[in-house]
Amino acid sequence: MIVLFARQYAEKLIRFTARHEPKIAKYLRSLWLIQAERMARKEIEYAVTFQEVPLEWIFAWQQDYARFINEEIDPRWREAIAEAGDTIEEAIIREVGPFSFTPTGEKIDFWLRERAATLVRNLTDTQTQALRNILRHYIVEQPTSPDDLGRIIRSVVGLTNREALAVARFRDSLLREGVDRQKVEKQTERYIRFLHKQRGIRIARTEMSYAWNNGEYMAITQAQEQGILRGRLMKEWITAADERVCHICGPADGELVDKEQSFSNGFFIPPAHPNCRCAHAYMLEEV
Ligand SMILES: [Zn+2]
Repeated sequence: MIVLFARQYAEKLIRFTARHEPKIAKYLRSLWLIQAERMARKEIEYAVTFQEVPLEWIFAWQQDYARFINEEIDPRWREAIAEAGDTIEEAIIREVGPFSFTPTGEKIDFWLRERAATLVRNLTDTQTQALRNILRHYIVEQPTSPDDLGRIIRSVVGLTNREALAVARFRDSLLREGVDRQKVEKQTERYIRFLHKQRGIRIARTEMSYAWNNGEYMAITQAQEQGILRGRLMKEWITAADERVCHICGPADGELVDKEQSFSNGFFIPPAHPNCRCAHAYMLEEV
């Protein structure tokens, strides 16, 4: 059995991601603030009256996220694919023989296009859903003045449904406790800043993991197609050290399956969930 991509290389993915997380998170935070500021009073009134997110917002978000991906994510996806592929390339050269990974081409372009479309859709849908629920919360469950609601809507832009509702409940409970208004807004703002940062990092990690793991897969597939790897190719799920207890990834740790098979957790390669830090390795059983 030849180990093509050893367990310790999983650290490379973590290091790669750590390098890019802060910038991506920062970009998103400022984008969310711009989106909030851009919401016109009239549009907010419409949202409150009809309990619906204005279509103009949704279209604008789609464009924002497409630009975010173009400027900030796509170049890093390519870098991740190239670096992960190089890691596989080095291992093949060392263990088997000459091989050169090409980090471009139709298959990679297709992957990048598909992933970009999915991400634009996910980010936009998440935002729409969160605002829709905030509207419902403050119109149906916890009626508040239109001015207040306008401020709340603006402040939770960029949060997921669960995060936005957590912020709403946090704010509601401070007000119920009779905390001073200014203090309430300040503490809520601090909480939102924390959640924004956390979510930005989560998005960065998840996207880098997609590209990295797919880069590995693309590289090994190229080598296979060129007839360099002969024998049975297996892959191993490698759980990041801080994720052994994850109920999706933990049980798959160290599992070996055929290259074209899914692991027992149902995933073909990592990531398995947002924030997933897992990698995978290949082994060649020579014939
Ligand atoms: Zn994981």
